Amino acid sequence: MDNGSMLPPLREVINSYGLRAEKSLGQNFLLDLNLTGRIARCAGNLEGERVLEIGPGPGGLTRAILSQGASELIAIEKDTRCQAPLAEVSDAFGGRLRVLEADALDIREEDLLSGKAHIIANLPYNVATPLLIKWLKKRHLFKSMTLMFQKEVAERITAEPRTKAYGRLSILCQWLCETSKQFDISPKAFTPPPKVVSQVVKLVPRDEPLYPADLETLEKVVATAFGQRRKMLRASLKSLGKNAEDILVEAGIKPTSRAEELSVEEFCRLSEIYRNAQ
Ligand code: SAM
Repeated sequence: MDNGSMLPPLREVINSYGLRAEKSLGQNFLLDLNLTGRIARCAGNLEGERVLEIGPGPGGLTRAILSQGASELIAIEKDTRCQAPLAEVSDAFGGRLRVLEADALDIREEDLLSGKAHIIANLPYNVATPLLIKWLKKRHLFKSMTLMFQKEVAERITAEPRTKAYGRLSILCQWLCETSKQFDISPKAFTPPPKVVSQVVKLVPRDEPLYPADLETLEKVVATAFGQRRKMLRASLKSLGKNAEDILVEAGIKPTSRAEELSVEEFCRLSEIYRNAQ
């Protein structure tokens, strides 16, 4: 059964269930079903696909994902008030939607999913980055991640070296996934409007990381380098405990370079040489 079009307008859902937006839960709702449809389409053809959605709220993006044919949608929502309206969505779409009341930071995706899934979410801004880092570490569970962030964070994911946005998130994401900017969304599209512009980004996990490296070591080297991003690497990497200059030279990197000048490949090389020097 697929009676999505019989559901009441989202504004009516919000009013009848008293879903006053809670700032602490990062609640900025999208009520325009054309827009939620556009976001869901970024994931590709969803016909027969399994999807995980974080923070369905009143269910705008949820409806779009189901309308586009997802055969199984697991939605994780922390706000109890959303359970009843989401149960209506589940009924309308013949039970293809399962809603769990939980904190997305705590769930074990591997226990919930019976096979590879797409993640599609308008993320609560306060937990968006930790969630992405968690998913990068479990990337083998996911076919793709279509995620909305505040634009400033989204830009870090796809940033190129030598730009202000380039940093830890750029390197980890691009090393493990193909990343692409999709489109910006104005604050006006949300109820209530947030203070900042949002952006949808798509990440497709790679079968193998782009270059050989150990995740923990790479994270440590990158965090140390960007911890003092304006310093030359021979100084900023001193706290790694090895002779930073020697490691840099062995990796073919000028010790006077700064963190934001290094490509993902150079960071991987540096991290492998540092690991082997331990
Ligand atoms: N998907 C809806 C939309 O696009 O209109 C709502 C998006 S709103 C930006 C974020 C949603 O995530 C809210 O419904 C909020 O209650 C929920 N949320 C916030 N923190 C959460 C958490 N830690 N775990 C699960 N859901 C959370």
